[in-house]
Amino acid sequence: RKLNIAICGLGRYANVLKSGLADSRYCRLNGVITGTPAKAAQWKAEFGLPDKNIYSYDQLDQLANNPDIDLVYITLPNGLHKDYTLRVAKAGKHVIVEKPMALTERDCREMIDACQRAGVQLAVGYRLHYEPHHIELKRLGQEKVFGQVRWIEASLGYRLAGIAAADWHLSKVLAGGGPLMNLGVYCVQAGRYVLGEEPIAVTAQYGPVTMPDRFKEVEENIMWQLYFPSGAICTSATTANSNIDRFFASADEGTFELSPALSYGPFAGKTSRGVFNFPVINQQAAQLDDIASHILSNKPLPSHISGDEGRKDMRVIEGIYRAANTGKKVLLG
Ligand code: NAD
Repeated sequence: RKLNIAICGLGRYANVLKSGLADSRYCRLNGVITGTPAKAAQWKAEFGLPDKNIYSYDQLDQLANNPDIDLVYITLPNGLHKDYTLRVAKAGKHVIVEKPMALTERDCREMIDACQRAGVQLAVGYRLHYEPHHIELKRLGQEKVFGQVRWIEASLGYRLAGIAAADWHLSKVLAGGGPLMNLGVYCVQAGRYVLGEEPIAVTAQYGPVTMPDRFKEVEENIMWQLYFPSGAICTSATTANSNIDRFFASADEGTFELSPALSYGPFAGKTSRGVFNFPVINQQAAQLDDIASHILSNKPLPSHISGDEGRKDMRVIEGIYRAANTGKKVLLG
C-alpha cells in the first residue's frame, strides 16, 4: 500500500515536491490544504484528487474524519509550522514539517509532545540526509577517514536584490528571522552531522544592511562560529546579498569539500586524495520514501529527520541570535 499524503500550503516548495511525489514508490498525493481556490482546482486536475480531499485552512481539523489521508506535509511559512503541526496531530495524522521546524526550541518541544500524545510521527523535511554526497560527508567526518576534523566552513547565501517588500521571508512573525532561519539551518546541520557532535558554545556577528528598505525586521547577513566538544570549530555565513554555496572540512590527515554544497545540487565533491561524485538523485523522492516506508511498517522514523533533530538545530539557531544580539560568546547548556 502507499501512504496517502496531503500537502498544506501550495507555494514554491510544494511545487518542487511534485517531482518527488511522481518518483516516489511508497507515497501518493491524495489531498491538498490551501487558501487559494484556483490552486486547489489546478492540483485537483493534475493529480486527480477527489473533492472530499481538498480542504481550506479553516477546514483542516476535519481531516480527523478522513481515512484517505495518512500524513500532512506542511510547506507553509516558518511562523505557521507550529500551529499547523499541532492541528494536524490533533486530527490524528502524521506530519512532515518543512525546515526550519519552528521559530524557537520551545515550540519544537511543544510540537514533539503534541505528536507523541496524538500517537503520530513527526519528521522535518531534511532532504540532504538522502543526498549521496552528504551521506559521504557524514561518513568522512564521523568515521574520521582523514582523522579528527578540526575546522569546517559551511556557508549558503542568495542575492535577493529583487525580493518583494511584502515577501514573508522579510517578516519577523512569518519567517522568524532572515537567512539564518531559511538557509543557515543547512550550515548548522552540516557542522553537526559531519562531526556527529553537538556544539557547546557559539559566537556570532551581524553584517551590514545594504538593502534597508527590505531588511527592516530580519537580518540580511549573519556570520557565526560553533565550538564543539572535540575542539572542532564550524564557521559559517548566510546572507541575502551574495551567492555562496560551499562546504569545506580540514582534518588531521586531509581535507574534503563540496561546492555547490547545500542547495538542490548537482553537487561536486573533492578530497585531498581526489574528486568524488555520485549520481544525481531525486532528494525529495528518497526522503518521502524513507519516511513512508517507516510509517507503513510502524517503525519509528530515523533520528536524523526526526522532530528532535529539528529541535537541536533550533537550540543552536537561538544561541546564534543571542550571541549576535549581545556580542558575547553564548554557552549552549
Ligand atoms: P512560498 O511563499 O512559495 O509558499 C508558502 C505557501 O504558504 C503559499 O502557497 C502561501 O499562499 C501559503 N500561505 C498560507 N498562509 C500564508 C501567510 N499567512 N503568509 C504567506 N503565505 C501563506 O514559500 P516556500 O518557498 O514554498 O516555503 C515554504 C516552506 O518550505 C518554508 O518553511 C521554507 O523554509 C520551506 N522550504 C524548504 C525547502 C527545502 O529544500 N527543503 C526549499 C524551499 C522552502
